[in-house]
This record gives sequence, structure tokens and C-alpha cells, in this order.
Amino acid sequence: PFKALVVDKVEEDTKTSIKGLTKEELPAGDVLIKVHYSSVNYKDGLATHPKGNIVKEYPHVPGIDLAGVVKESDHPDWKEGDQVIVTSYELGVSHFGGFSEYARVKSEWIVPLPEGLSLKEAMIYGTAGFTAALSIHQLEQAGLSPDKGPVLVTGATGGVGSMAIAMLAKKGYEVAASTGKESEHGYLKELGATSILSRDEVAPEGFKPIGKQKWAGAVDPVGGSTLAAILSNTMYGGAVAVSGLTGGPKVPTTVFPFILRGVNLLGIDSVYCPMEKRKEIWKKAAQDYKPTEHLEAIHNEVTIEELPEVLSSILSGNVRGRTIVKY
Ligand code: NAP
Repeated sequence: PFKALVVDKVEEDTKTSIKGLTKEELPAGDVLIKVHYSSVNYKDGLATHPKGNIVKEYPHVPGIDLAGVVKESDHPDWKEGDQVIVTSYELGVSHFGGFSEYARVKSEWIVPLPEGLSLKEAMIYGTAGFTAALSIHQLEQAGLSPDKGPVLVTGATGGVGSMAIAMLAKKGYEVAASTGKESEHGYLKELGATSILSRDEVAPEGFKPIGKQKWAGAVDPVGGSTLAAILSNTMYGGAVAVSGLTGGPKVPTTVFPFILRGVNLLGIDSVYCPMEKRKEIWKKAAQDYKPTEHLEAIHNEVTIEELPEVLSSILSGNVRGRTIVKY
């Protein structure tokens, strides 16, 4: 048997424990992977929570990210020894995920490890880093470039936020970081933020539907009223990439930023991002966007035994950067 983190349903509650599983207990799929690293995302916290609304069937093995080496393959595109990344689709949601020493997955979910990234670095990125890279790519497609002005990153100490700051700084952007954590200003400056704002400064009580033009672009994993305030402060022709909802799902905005300033609101989805584009974004993340010297400060490594504690703290917004699991 090999180790896996298993979530069971016990009446109205969930119970998370480390168990021994066998290959026969893994779900159907055409490629078996020896997992070397996984990582922790907000969604994994939800997957262990009784009211998380992510998992449909128990027992379940969460983990929406994994990186490892192919052990057995029934698909011609993959052979034993290939280094691979698997994120998104059903992984860790309706299919056993990366919090396990072995995973059996569908070949069409697999991305070859791009040149320029190690398996460990791929998981320092994980879904959060991929989402940050996809956000920057979409902003650039919408016309953003360093000469246009400052770019705001919200949820700055989180996974998407930390990775976005480091990547934007590496690309030469002036980066403003919005955080609720006063104790982490030093960390954010180290990643390359040139100015730091509190959450209230970004979205003050009673902000106007159309405000001062401050941001050429924004990477926003927070959503909610923060997103509405950002839209009102986006420069003429600027764009905002929204990927998350840690600040809530309701966005109290108006049409004014769109019709008076031509602001573009860009939706970011990592889960069903088409495979060709997915590979292109991983390639950019591995090379052009790669903030090599900051990956050390961004991540923290834990064992599978330490995972349950990390999963509960991510739900309370108490983590910094990215946490990876080494097997
Ligand atoms: P994370 O590591 O937990 O970071 C979230 C950050 O948001 C926190 O560190 C905190 O940063 C900020 N935050 C927390 N509660 C907040 C609140 N009530 N109001 C304002 N800010 C708050 O999570 P993540 O992995 O970066 O993911 C962030 C969001 O993006 C989640 O909603 C996640 O589901 C979503 N996501 C979406 C996709 C996609 O494909 N669309 C992919 C990945 C993630 P500060 O303390 O620094 O403010």
C-alpha cells in the first residue's frame, strides 16, 4: 500500500486521515503516475470541508495539482519515465487527486513538464501559478504592457497573488499589491511589489462607480466589492482579469467603467482552459514569466502528515504564498 489523504463523510461532518491505499483502489484512467509533489490550493481546503460543495462522492482523495513520473501507460502519447504535470479537469474534485503517492488519471489531462521547470517548481506554481500566468497572458492580449502604467494585484499574499506579483515584476511591470496582512509587507516588497495598499484602500466604503484612473490592469483573485472598486479605478482602455471570489461572489458595479472608459473585464478559468493554450501558458510560466529567484521565498514544503492542518488554515485565509507536499 501507499499513503494517501482520504476524506470520509461521517454523518453531516467530514473526517480527514492518512490511509494506505492500493493501486486497485485508484479510479479508472489510462496513465498511472508516481506523484513526487503536490500542492495546496483554496479549493483543496473546500474539498475537506463538510460545506465545501466541491466533492460529490466519498471516500475522496483531494489534491487538484500533481507533478510526477509516469509509471504505467496504456496511451501511446505517454511512456514510463515521462515527467508530467496534471492539474484541473476532474482531478481532486470528482476523481482521486494529488494528495496520494500514486495517481491514475486520464491521459488527456496530462501536460508534459515544460523545459525550464523542475517537478518541484511546477508544484510551487500549481493551479495558482498557472492561473496567475493565464491572467497576465490575457491582460497582455488585451493590450497591457509595462509602459501603460501600474498593475494592481489583490489577495497579494495568497497563491495566485504572490505568483502574479513575482511574474509581473520579473516582466518589468510596476506592481501595486493589495493585502489584508500588515505583517507581510516585507514579503510582498521582496517579491517585487513597489507599493502596498490595504484592502480598504483598494475598496473604500462608499466608493464611486467611476473614480480616479489608477490602474492600467489588475490581477484579481478576490472578486466581490474589491472587483467593483478596481473597475472604477481602471485607466481608460485598461483591463482586469478576475479569477476568484475570496472576497465574495457579488460584484456591485455599474456599466460606467465599460461604457465611459472602455475597460475590459477578463474572465479567467484554469479548469477547462483548452489543452493547446494550457501548454502555451505552462511554457510561458516556465520561461518568459519565471521569477526564478523568488520561488524559494514563495513556497513552504510539508509532508502528507502535515497536510490536514494546512488545509484548515487556507480556508481561514491564514496562509502565505504556496505550500507544496513532497512524497
Ligand atoms: P489563497 O492562497 O488562499 O489566497 C487568497 C488570498 O485572498 C488570501 O491570502 C488573502 O490575501 C485574500 N483574502 C482572503 N480572504 C479575503 C477577504 N475576505 N477579502 C479580501 N481578500 C481576502 O487562494 P488562491 O489559491 O490564491 O486562490 C484565490 C482565489 O482564486 C480563490 O477564490 C480560488 O478559488 C480562485 N482560483 C480560481 C482559479 C480559476 O481557474 N478561476 C484558479 C485558482 C484559484 P491578503 O491577506 O494578502 O489580502
